[in-house]
Amino acid sequence: MSNQSFHQITVPTPYAVGDVHMYVYRGESVSLIDAGVNTDTAWDQLVVGLKEINLKPSDIEQIILTHHHPDHIGLTGRFEHEPIIYGHKLVEPWLNQSNQFFDQYLDFFNGLYEKWGVPHHFRNIEKTIAVTKKYSSKSELHHYLVEGDVIEGIPGMRVIETPGHAQSHLSFWDEKNRQMIVGDVLLKHISSNPLLEPPKNQGDARPKPLLEYRNSLEKLLDYDVDQFLPGHGKPFREHKELIERRLEKQSKRAENVFAYLKEKGPKTPYEICTWLFARQYETQFGLTMSETIGQLDYLESIGAVSSVETDGISYYAPSMIHQK
Ligand SMILES: [Zn+2]
Repeated sequence: MSNQSFHQITVPTPYAVGDVHMYVYRGESVSLIDAGVNTDTAWDQLVVGLKEINLKPSDIEQIILTHHHPDHIGLTGRFEHEPIIYGHKLVEPWLNQSNQFFDQYLDFFNGLYEKWGVPHHFRNIEKTIAVTKKYSSKSELHHYLVEGDVIEGIPGMRVIETPGHAQSHLSFWDEKNRQMIVGDVLLKHISSNPLLEPPKNQGDARPKPLLEYRNSLEKLLDYDVDQFLPGHGKPFREHKELIERRLEKQSKRAENVFAYLKEKGPKTPYEICTWLFARQYETQFGLTMSETIGQLDYLESIGAVSSVETDGISYYAPSMIHQK
């Protein structure tokens, strides 16, 4: 698929989400937006995709990343000529892959899972890290991007910070052509997940990804976009109704959690997760746990629930004023 300025190249991923897109922009310099997943098949298909527009991997001068997930940064390390890599500051540790970073990641989740009453056999964070490393790339981030930055080499392309799905998530807005590269913030065919991550600085309060995600969606309502170019699925427009639907669906889910707690009394996040995602939690534990804690953060933010700690375990229950 091509449009005025961006050429889409699609490669398969080993993840449930399926194919992932990259976008090539040819202007003052040749840019690649996002970098697929680190498999031989993905690399081969990128090479073929570039050839179709008369380019070779060595023609890519810069890579701009929407966020740090393996299916978006995977091939960065395969370019032998080392193109300049741009992204949010928080992409950096995922590209550098230091042991210290992953040790902290492990400690963070082990600590939370302990507190949330998660049984030991579900705490397979080492495996998550191993898979993430396998499909990512070790490389370097050369330039940090922040809200409002104009990306060099792509005239008029501005950075919008859109955290929630990932703490590092950026979207790119081409106002002149009314196109937005939106990564995984908003997908037409599936709802995107807010995912839990450690805080920027070890020891700080943890991020609340669902609250950030809602803010990011609300932020996008302010833009008049003709075409969204997503990380997965078809390009789309008319995002306002889609966003309203997604926000509505989330509040409904939170209402269900609230009703459950009102009926059953205090529960740990793990217990809530096994009820809310009875069919999925065993196979998609990290994802469903992130989603569950998101609903609890949301209910807490509107004053509907609060948590108490007993013997180091957190229990959530309706707040006093809501109990009648
Ligand atoms: Zn993602």
